[in-house]
Amino acid sequence: MVSTLSNCQRPGQTLNRAPMASNPVTASFHSGPVPRMSPPPSQHPAATPMPSGSFLPGANPPPPLNWQYNYPSPGPQTNHCPHASSQPILSGNTDLITNHQRVSSGDPSLQNSYLKSGSAPPSVNPPLPTTFQPGTPLGPPPVAGPPPVRALTPQKSSHSTVPQPSFNSAINQEGGAPHTNNESMVTNNTYDEIEGGGFLATPQFTNKNPKMARSVGYSYPSLPPGYQNTTPPGTTGMPSSSLNYPSGPLAFSQTSLGANHLTASMRGLSLHPEGLRVINLLQERNMLPATPLQPPVPNLHEDIQKLNCNPELFRCTLTSIPQTQALLNKAKLPLGLLLHPFKDLAQLPVVTSSTIVRCHSCRTYINPFVSFLDQRRWKCNLCYRVNDVPEEFMYNPLTRVYGEPHRRPEVQNATIEFMAPSEYMLRPPQPPVYLFVFDVSHNAIETGYLDSVCQSLLDNLDLLPGNTRTKIGFITFDSTIHFYSLQEGLSQPQMLIVSDIEDVFIPMPENLLVNLNESKELVQDLLKSLPQMFTKTLETQSALGPALQAAFKLMSPTGGRMSVFQTQLPNLGVGALKPREEPNQRSSAKEIHLTPSTDFYKKLALDCSGQQVAVDLFLLSGQYSDLASLGCISRYSAGSVYYYPSYHHQHNPVQVQKLQKELHRYLTRKIGFEAVMRIRCTKGLSIHTFHGNFFVRSTDLLSLPNVNPDAGYAVQMSVEDNLIDTQLVSFQSALLYTSSKGERRIRVHTLCLPVVSTLNEVFLGADVQAISGLLANMAVDRCVTASLGDARDALVNAVIDSLSAYRSLVLSNQQPGLMVPFSLRLFPLFVLALLKQKSFQTGTNVRLDERIFAMCQVKNQPLVYLMLTTHPSLYRVDNLSDEGALNINDKTIPQPPILQLSVEKLSRDGAFLLDAGSVMMLWVGKNCGQNFLSHVLGVQSYVSIPQTMTELPELDTPESARTVAFISWLREQRPFFPILYIIRDESPVRANFLQHMVEDRSESALSYYEFLLHIQQQVNK
Ligand SMILES: [Zn+2]
Repeated sequence: MVSTLSNCQRPGQTLNRAPMASNPVTASFHSGPVPRMSPPPSQHPAATPMPSGSFLPGANPPPPLNWQYNYPSPGPQTNHCPHASSQPILSGNTDLITNHQRVSSGDPSLQNSYLKSGSAPPSVNPPLPTTFQPGTPLGPPPVAGPPPVRALTPQKSSHSTVPQPSFNSAINQEGGAPHTNNESMVTNNTYDEIEGGGFLATPQFTNKNPKMARSVGYSYPSLPPGYQNTTPPGTTGMPSSSLNYPSGPLAFSQTSLGANHLTASMRGLSLHPEGLRVINLLQERNMLPATPLQPPVPNLHEDIQKLNCNPELFRCTLTSIPQTQALLNKAKLPLGLLLHPFKDLAQLPVVTSSTIVRCHSCRTYINPFVSFLDQRRWKCNLCYRVNDVPEEFMYNPLTRVYGEPHRRPEVQNATIEFMAPSEYMLRPPQPPVYLFVFDVSHNAIETGYLDSVCQSLLDNLDLLPGNTRTKIGFITFDSTIHFYSLQEGLSQPQMLIVSDIEDVFIPMPENLLVNLNESKELVQDLLKSLPQMFTKTLETQSALGPALQAAFKLMSPTGGRMSVFQTQLPNLGVGALKPREEPNQRSSAKEIHLTPSTDFYKKLALDCSGQQVAVDLFLLSGQYSDLASLGCISRYSAGSVYYYPSYHHQHNPVQVQKLQKELHRYLTRKIGFEAVMRIRCTKGLSIHTFHGNFFVRSTDLLSLPNVNPDAGYAVQMSVEDNLIDTQLVSFQSALLYTSSKGERRIRVHTLCLPVVSTLNEVFLGADVQAISGLLANMAVDRCVTASLGDARDALVNAVIDSLSAYRSLVLSNQQPGLMVPFSLRLFPLFVLALLKQKSFQTGTNVRLDERIFAMCQVKNQPLVYLMLTTHPSLYRVDNLSDEGALNINDKTIPQPPILQLSVEKLSRDGAFLLDAGSVMMLWVGKNCGQNFLSHVLGVQSYVSIPQTMTELPELDTPESARTVAFISWLREQRPFFPILYIIRDESPVRANFLQHMVEDRSESALSYYEFLLHIQQQVNK
């Protein structure tokens, strides 16, 4: 029945179906390609567009060649809203409706958002009502409470009796996963409650007059309307400095100001005069700063700004928010947020308190930008509800003073983490569970990857984040699936082979995922023997799909992280794929296979997501492996994709080094389990499209079975209601997760930005990096829903449209040239760089999987790395000096200036380092000085530089120390490991180096100057 490792000879003894009842794989798994088109007629049309990153093209009409970032005003098209017609099919819950009214104005223009291609379901803001009754006390509802109902359809009338869909139907429709296990969804459901959607406890909040609704404290009708604009006595015209807040702007003991009151007379202080310049890019092309480009500082009073969220964690494309959608439309710039919510932080205030203070209406966490009306009342900065200050919050644990709620850490830190009390748990926090799934086919063994991975695991086993509850397990597969019993007390691991891949079952489920502490020796034994076990295999087939099904079944009861290592195109069982890449068509911008060929991986990912399992895919393959299809397993389960093309332990040693370094980071970095994230924003703003790896569980709740510190997200927004009475708006992300120590925690970031009324102010506050990053995310969606060519056109049009708007609507006198606001001086350059990025470039250079991987990176990387990949940094390094150097831990780190990406900046007598994020290239000129050659490279002469040199020797010279310190410092800044190639001018890799010279003309793309001329012609039309 069972063959043990020691005598395992392949083909091993196989197991028949175990007598124990193992859950059969649900009928939802289809083998072979499944039509991926529009949903069946009975299904809600909203099933198709979905979490952005959805690679399923919807039934949307072809999009225009530019983006409508925003929505046209209400008009005839509103009837296109697919939801309107589909409501009758949605399941009941009508009995719940009458108690709840929608908060927002029900602006029908919102409905247009449903038409956007590649969009996640729009959310409404404030979030929709749930079933909880008015008067529900502060805090999350009881776990056993009724499931929330979240409407998909904005209700035009607050008294609408249109049935709202139940959550389950929403899942099925939104995720396109009609087979998703309903039982799990009931569980999911309650996560929504726990983080707290919009708990609309105040039916009177349906006032259709936004001015009234936002200006009056609902429970305090005695406050004068227009309260917002009323500057409290004594502050009119008062110079900002004289307010003299010792610890932030909220000290009501001096005045009863809230943050919203400060700005009226105090804006416009922080903008540097340089920022007001208008630049003619045709005359001043070289606008690239010599030091890394800093994000713009929002034009806020310094007392507010100093409390604001770090832009590395949370930033907005426009640091000045236009007060109306019409103004935003005029600017032709996208409005959106870029987040890095789980970034490793050196300092993070953590609050343990039984009372987490949140707004009764919209569930916003108390934050530095709320206003205290007095000691006992605070006003929410998102929905303007006035809330009571709980008794416990009156005491400040830091100062041990009673009566200082405004000095509590929650009100002094825009980034904070709460230890969540038990109400935030649906079940006891899950243990850390790690399952590794290894391809052991002939092809896999040939690459030698298994040695590296097993060795890395052995080295890092004690560093896996976890506690005494940590569980671990292993599955290997080729044409069959192999399980490993690691039960405590066994003398050695037992291998169990299941050959029935049509109907996979789990033998001995209780012994396959084991407690790491209790079975550590067995685990180590297995990791030592695994690489040898398959050395003689002749099995070429790969049953990845069935192996994933088995892994999913094994992890379903707990949730956790599944790490899958695959080296080829899966060709057996469900999820088998066929080669689709045609090298001749690589150059075509039209027909390339960017969409998945089967929905098997997406469906399985959604099942995983429902059971709190995330799948990380490590693809190590020299051949086409259809990453467009395989990647779905990670995208929708909130996993990550790692790609090591042409991995080989002997032929490609740098990839081996890269894998080892990145595995170390992967295995040891922080991890959050069973997480959800919600982003809230001030009433009037609306979030409608999410980008990243996740599943949109309900209208605006992102399901993240795992969250890792290296993942980024983006969202698009619109201005739903005018913000005319509002001077500040805020955005808040809340990430609820289980730590590897089994604690339930909530990490909250709050960003505050000013509202402006003129187009010029909107332009002055533009954040060109955030804009480029958001456009890149949108362009990936466009590639998938339309075509690569469309996406490229839309990128170019984004520049033309915004600069045309600036020229015609802001500049009074029409000068010749290409006039841009200082804030957008790098916009054309960054868009040109995007066009030359692997995701979007044309030409025959990019293999399909590489392109798909680049697109995955666009979607999943934090902005800083996306920008580095897109527009690399170039430094001259043969003359490094200590001038301006950093000093970190007694090491001197030179800081050479950043150069423009053009061969004009290179010279044959120098050496230049190109840092493109995941790869670095050190180009050595023919006449490079002997000093650099011998003191840094350790070679006699230029010709003795080896063809493949990927490491700098550490020589005992100051030049070597400086160069090595600089490169190491760059590498340490990021969670992945950039390979370093040292190349001579005539090296074959030279073309790769030159490809990054964004400002130069390439095979299929314009030079920067030509691009500027093109833009100018279009703008001045
Ligand atoms: Zn609120």
